Amino acid sequence: MARRILFLGPPGAGKGTQAAMLANALHIPHISTGDMLRSAVDAGTDLGKKVESVMAAGDLVSDELVVAIVDDRLDQSDARCGYLLDGFPRNIAQAQALNDAVINAIGTVVLLEVDADELVQRLMKRAAEQGRADDNEQTIRRRLEVYEAETSPLVDHYGDAVIRVDGIGSIDEVFSRIALVLARS
Ligand code: AMP
Repeated sequence: MARRILFLGPPGAGKGTQAAMLANALHIPHISTGDMLRSAVDAGTDLGKKVESVMAAGDLVSDELVVAIVDDRLDQSDARCGYLLDGFPRNIAQAQALNDAVINAIGTVVLLEVDADELVQRLMKRAAEQGRADDNEQTIRRRLEVYEAETSPLVDHYGDAVIRVDGIGSIDEVFSRIALVLARS
């Protein structure tokens, strides 16, 4: 059965790490819009030049650009047997575009929950360790605001498809929780 899984959660919740591990375990592609956009910025492509300053400010790239790259990615043959979306959709408009683009829309939505104080601590730690351009205090605050305003309404939007997972704990602990709830879903 094709599995179409979506990861939701605030910046710093561990989505990228957990999504990569789960996609690997399920043999489905891990489709991260943040990773695709960062690659475009690093490669200096036209897309990268368009999105660099928006990302550095912690704001959302335009729906039009992001929907186009996701559409292209989902058209690739490896996505036919399922995929895991990480960082997309980021708002209701993108979710609606996804439903239009994909006939059998999302089956399971994993919501990784971590409280705000812990998120800021984790992001500041990542800033020190990895030096991501958008991991500085001002941008972190902005990304959390954008999540609350734009992305958190998706939790209600997906309703019963949402499975809440406590994102506090070691990487392996959180992964075990996700694997368990998915096995039951
Ligand atoms: P992420 O790695 O998912 O935290 O994304 C990093 C940054 O990329 C975000 O702060 C946005 O600027 C941009 N971005 C990633 N995914 C999207 C999306 N679906 N829509 C708009 N902007 C996005």
